[in-house]
Amino acid sequence: KKITIAIDGFSSTGKSTLAKQLAKHLGYVYVDTGAMYRAVALYAMQNNYIGTDFFDKEKLISSLPSIKLHFKFNSELGFAEMYLNDINVETEIRTLEVSNFVSSVAAISEVRTKLVEQQQEMGKEKGIVMDGRDIGTVVFPNAELKIFMTAGADTRAQRRYDELKAKGDSVSYEEVLKNVVERDYIDTHRVDSPLVMADDAIEVDNSYLDRKEQFDAVLE
Ligand code: C5P
Repeated sequence: KKITIAIDGFSSTGKSTLAKQLAKHLGYVYVDTGAMYRAVALYAMQNNYIGTDFFDKEKLISSLPSIKLHFKFNSELGFAEMYLNDINVETEIRTLEVSNFVSSVAAISEVRTKLVEQQQEMGKEKGIVMDGRDIGTVVFPNAELKIFMTAGADTRAQRRYDELKAKGDSVSYEEVLKNVVERDYIDTHRVDSPLVMADDAIEVDNSYLDRKEQFDAVLE
C-alpha cells in the first residue's frame, strides 16, 4: 500500500537528499516544495519587486496569477526540474542570491495559499514524498509518515558551502552560515504556518549520520 511521506525541517538538513533516496527506492514521486518558493522569489527578483533594500509585496501579490509553476521529470538526473512560466529555472533558483530573498517571499500568506493548493493537488495520489517546512503540519496533516530533520547550523552551513563551491559559486562560508541562520529565524517566526515539528513526526538529527545511515534509519 502506497503512503504519503512528509519531510520537514530546517534549511540544509539534507531533506531533499533523503527524499530523493526514498522516492527512488520506493518508486514514489518526489516533490521539492522549496523549489516552488524559490521560483516565486526568482520571479520577484526578475521583475524588481524585491532587492537588497526593497520589497514591493503588493506588486508580487497582484502578479501571482501570472506565475505558472510546474515540474518536469528529467530521466538523466533522476528527479523533476522546476519550470517558471515554461522556462527551466532549476539552476538559477539554487544561487545564494535567491536563498537570501526566498524566506521573505515565503512569509507572504497569499504566496503560501497558492503554493499549498498546488502541492495538495499534486499529492492527491498516494506514493509521494514531499519535502518543505509545512508539509506534515499544513499541506498533508494526515500523512502516514512524517520526518522532521535537524542538524547543527555549522554542519548545515558547511554542507551547503561545499555544494555551492562544487558548482563554482564564489561564496564564503560566513555568508552561507549567515543565510542558513537567517532563514531558520524567518521560517520559525513568520505569522503564517511557521516552521514547527508536527506532534506525530519522527525527529532525525543527522549531524553525525552519513547519507546511508540516515536512509537506512528512516527506511526502517
Ligand atoms: O527547502 P529550501 O531550502 O529549498 O526552501 C527554500 C525556502 O523556502 C525556505 O528557507 C523557506 O523559507 C521556504 N519554504 C517554505 N515552505 C516550504 C518549503 C520552503 O516556507 N514548504
